Amino acid sequence: MTAITAPATAADAVPAPAGAVRPPLPLPLFHSTVLDWYEASKRDLPWRAPDATPWAVMVSEFMLQQTPVKRVLPAWQAWLTRWPTPAHLAAEAPGEAVRMWGRLGYPRRALRLHAAAVAITEEHEGEVPDDHATLLSLPGVGEYTAAAVASFAFRQRHVVLDTNVRRVFARAVTGVEYPAQATTAAERRTATALLPDDAETAATWAVGVMELGALVCTARGPECGDCPLFTACAWQRAGRPPYEGPARRGQSYEGTDRQVRGKLLAVLRESHGTVPQARLDAVWPDAVQRARALDGLVADGLVEPVEQGVYRLPQ
Ligand code: SF4
Repeated sequence: MTAITAPATAADAVPAPAGAVRPPLPLPLFHSTVLDWYEASKRDLPWRAPDATPWAVMVSEFMLQQTPVKRVLPAWQAWLTRWPTPAHLAAEAPGEAVRMWGRLGYPRRALRLHAAAVAITEEHEGEVPDDHATLLSLPGVGEYTAAAVASFAFRQRHVVLDTNVRRVFARAVTGVEYPAQATTAAERRTATALLPDDAETAATWAVGVMELGALVCTARGPECGDCPLFTACAWQRAGRPPYEGPARRGQSYEGTDRQVRGKLLAVLRESHGTVPQARLDAVWPDAVQRARALDGLVADGLVEPVEQGVYRLPQ
């Protein structure tokens, strides 16, 4: 990765704009420092290609929300090969989306993406809407996804706040190691105040900050020596004070209901018909936990009971 040393000036010299946000560098320099780094260091990802369709961008955003790029890449390719437009996906049963989702995790995203494809096909002539409010009205599309699709697919100016962006701003701007567990109004004000005015630049800024958080300012081991904001970063300048907030959620998986749900769903994905209870019973020894996980899958619409003790993916 190319490290660019920013010609950083003292943050103290930077006036705080309205909303009391004090960027670590004068805003134009802050922008150009991150944008220059992004230009030199960005990953070549297919959903960032100039010919990536809005649908391809939308699929990537659904998949990337809780799954790393490395695992998303082959799934995204397979998905777009099978369903190159929303109409192609909408024409199939939601269970096929769950099947194709494979082992990406958090499979409710597959159902939501299918529901969004149906809405796009039925209400928007098969075209992914290009305005934020309409994107937000699609099933399964929240504030983050609407902003990301509007920004990355349509080059618009929006605050795009994912966990990577929030972490970079928490450290470089606010001077704390981690942001709050849930996005706060103050964070949104900060991100809005830092957004470049020009839409095209704002769209690149959004993905640039995100990339900095993904590659350099990582959650557990930030590579500050490679960071273009090294000398300006508020957290660095404060001596890297330790995190003092509430305990951060772990990502434990082994033995959890999530693991059981994954095992049950894998049986259904691999079967192209109905599945008897006995095959599901074979994947997990604890009957109580197994029943709870199966009930959860049914409640979430990921599994359909056909008759007593017989299940299938949703039709
Ligand atoms: S200097 Fe370190 S903590 Fe600050 S933004 Fe860069 S990687 Fe993150």
